[in-house]
Order: sequence, then structure tokens, then C-alpha cells
Amino acid sequence: MDTILRHSENRKSAPRRGRFADFIRSSQLRHAAAYVLITFVGLLLLNLYAPMAIRNLLFSSQRTAMTDKAQLMAASFSSYEHLDAETVREVVHSVNDLHTTRLLVTDPDGRCLYDSQTTGSAEGKLTLFPEIAEALSGTDVVYTRYKNDLFTSKAAMPLMAYNRLIGAIYLLENDRDQAELLSSLQKTLFWISVGIEALIILLSMLFSMLFSKRMRNVLQSVQRLDDGDYSVRLPSRGNDEVARLGKAFNDLAQRLKQSEDVRKQFVSNASHELKTPLASIKLLADSILQNEMDEATTKEFVSDIGNEADRLTRLSAKLLELTRLDSSPAEERQAVAVAPVAERVLRMLLPQARKQGVTLDLVCGPAETVLASEDDLYQVLFNLVENGVKYNRPDGFVRMTAETDPEAVTIRVEDSGYGIPNEAKPHIFERFYRVDKARSRKAGGAGLGLSIVHDMVLRNRGSVTVEDRPGGGTCFVLTLPRPAAEREETP
Ligand code: ADP
Repeated sequence: MDTILRHSENRKSAPRRGRFADFIRSSQLRHAAAYVLITFVGLLLLNLYAPMAIRNLLFSSQRTAMTDKAQLMAASFSSYEHLDAETVREVVHSVNDLHTTRLLVTDPDGRCLYDSQTTGSAEGKLTLFPEIAEALSGTDVVYTRYKNDLFTSKAAMPLMAYNRLIGAIYLLENDRDQAELLSSLQKTLFWISVGIEALIILLSMLFSMLFSKRMRNVLQSVQRLDDGDYSVRLPSRGNDEVARLGKAFNDLAQRLKQSEDVRKQFVSNASHELKTPLASIKLLADSILQNEMDEATTKEFVSDIGNEADRLTRLSAKLLELTRLDSSPAEERQAVAVAPVAERVLRMLLPQARKQGVTLDLVCGPAETVLASEDDLYQVLFNLVENGVKYNRPDGFVRMTAETDPEAVTIRVEDSGYGIPNEAKPHIFERFYRVDKARSRKAGGAGLGLSIVHDMVLRNRGSVTVEDRPGGGTCFVLTLPRPAAEREETP
């Protein structure tokens, strides 16, 4: 008790962890952080890969366009054996505008015959561009570069006529439009990614906080339940895990409350039942001590004290039996012949039956065998026959019969006693229930015998019912499985 008190005090005085600290430690936050990280990596890859793929596409289209233009121009010179500035100018003008930034045509020595650029023209000078040098050595050169928001494409080709080198052409193209398109695409993609990531962070935090709040609620409710507050309930709207947890929690709290109520009721009934014989004993003992009484009366009082003590012994035995039924697992069931057990019960109760003028009768063949714990079967039959004797009339009888069908063995315990009124029948297996309290108490009962019968029969997978006996009295019908029938059922 002391330990329990200290334990609960400790828990109350323990500093409550802040909600923020709880949230920081919550698994939900870790999940949210994982989502944010995964989406961040995904968006980062998209930002790197998408512009790179588009740039490569533009590179290849720029190169193809430059090659086409250079080849077109080179083809225009293929019918000339020798090139001079005049001829080149005429040919260039005869070709449609190629939309290049600069066009150069040189002779085989690299001297410039035509330059489309007027300011700083290279005409008449030796052009020392490496691309032209390569073209004059017979190699085609085409490449595109992207730098400072600008695509720069260069192409150089040898000019051949009748298998002879007559010069080289050089094309330069600066494309800012495509570069700007690429750069704006990059920027748009970046800002969309930032927006998406911000939204994901916001939603993740929001959902984590909501989930954490619900989980905190669950934990607090568990704590309250642990502290003995069985009225606590969780909201169970929705169908997600927390709602399902809430439903399971509510069911558990409900069941705990019921079993707590049953326990309290049991304790209060048991105390009441124990109090009555103890009070009688005290009263009788006080009377003996205080009053001058003759020997015969004293003996009578002492005998009454003995009877009350017997009642207490019987009551505590039954209480112990019920506690054992509640706490310990069922004993192993085995094939038990009914007849020997029933005979033992009748032998034990014969003196009591004789005292009350009740005859005991057994109709049971040796073949009747049930699958049950032998001790349980003995106790069940004992309680039923004892009741048959207790609640009987003088010259009455108690008869036990057993019949077997393919499924089960049916044992009937009939008596010619007072019978049980219909309104009491649904309650007679409840603990501490007595039909006629005065008569039952006189008979030494506390309303526990039939509840023990009920619990024992159930744990032996049987059933017990009560009905009126035709011609007056009560008939308890007990059904227990046969060993073979149950084995056939179990695959
Ligand atoms: P008790 O210990 O009081 O006999 P039980 O649980 O065995 O308790 O029985 C509950 C009540 O059912 C009894 O108080 C009695 O009123 C009634 N009862 C049980 N068996 C019989 C019977 N064979 N005939 C009439 N009444 C019975």
C-alpha cells in the first residue's frame, strides 16, 4: 500500500514534459522530417536534371543547324576551281540569309576573302582562328557552348572543288533568345520547387502536430485509466489508426469499469454475508457471558455458535472456490465416467438427505462418459444435489439421470421441492442471488453454489439450464461434451 501511494505521488510530482519537447521527440516529427528530406532531394534532382536535359537538347539542335548552314554554304562553292573576293561576295549574296552572327570565307592559305562583320573586318588578313586552321587541314568543326546566358555556336568546314581544297568557311552564331528561355525555365522551376517544399514542410508540421496532439490525448487517457478513472473516453470518430485505437481503448475502459463494479459488488456482498454469522456469534457469546443461564440453554447457545461457525467455514470455502475459478486456468479435461462420480456425491450427501427425509436416486449406466475435469464434475453434481436436498419437502426425492446422444451427455438433477419461480430463473446463476433469502439462509446458503456450478460448467465447455419439473419441483439440465464428439470436432 505504502509503495503504491509513493508511486502515485512520484508520478504526480514529476515535472510534466513540455508539449514542445514531446513534439520534438515524437515519431511523427521524424516521419515528417523524412518526407521533407525525400521531397527536397527529389526536387533538387529535378532542378539539376531538367535544365541539363533541355540544355543538351538545345546544344544538339544548335549543332545540327550550324552543320546544315555550313554544308549549304560549302556546297555553293563546289563549282569553283579558284576563289577570289569578288566571287565569294557574289556567292554569299546569292545564298539566302543564314542568320549567323559572323561568316568568314578564306582561301587555302587562311587569308580572309569575305567577312560579314564590317567593323573590325578581317578581309585581306590571315585569319588565325583555330577552327579555320582545322578546317584547312580537312576536318569539319562544329560545337556549341553555353556561358553567361548565351549560346555560342561555331562551325568551320573546308571548301572542296573537284577534290581540291579551295578554301574554308567559318560560321559564328550567338543565340541569346534560347539562352534566356533556358534561364527563365530554370528560375521558374526553382521557385516552383521552393513553393512545393515550403508547402510540404508546412503540411508535414501541421499533420505531425495534429497527430501528436491526438496521441498525447491517448496517453493522458491511459494515465487517467491507470489512476482509476474508468469514465474516461476517447473520441472515436473516423476510421484511421488513432480512431481505431480510441474505440479499442473505450471498449477496454468499459470492460474495466464493469469488472470493477462486479468486484466492488462481490466484495460488498461477501462482507455482508460474513458479517451476519459473525454478528450472531458475537451476540450469542455476549449472552452467555452476561446472562446467568442454565446449562441446557448455554449448550444450546454454544451449539448455535458452532452452527454459525460452520456456516462461515462453508461460505469461505465457496468464496475461495470462486476466487480459484476466476484466477486459475481450467484443469485439464479428460474422459470421466459419470456413474462413479455421481455415486460418490450421493454417498456424501446421504446423511444430510436422511436427516431431511429425502431419498436420493441415480439412473446412470456405466457407458456415460464426459470430457471434463473430474473435480469440477464432482463439485457441480454435489452443489446441484445438495440444493435438491436443501430446498425439498420432507419425504421428497432427488433423482439424477444421465443420457448420452452422439454429441453430448445430458445429466438431469430433479427434485420434488419448492421449485423456482419463473421471474427468479434468469438470476439464479448470479453470485449471491437467493430466491427466498430467509429459507436459503436457514438452509445455510449464501447464493454462491449455482454461480460456481455455472462457471465450472462453462469452463468445461458445457451448459446448464433450469426448468420446472412436471409435477412440481425443479430440474437442472446439465450438458457436457462426450470425449469422442469433441475430438471429432477438433481438426
Ligand atoms: P445457496 O447457497 O443459497 O443455495 P445457490 O446459488 O446454490 O445458493 O442457489 C441460489 C438460490 O436458488 C437459492 O437461494 C435457492 O433459493 C434457489 N435454488 C437453488 N436450487 C434450488 C432447488 N433445487 N429448488 C429450489 N430453489 C433452488
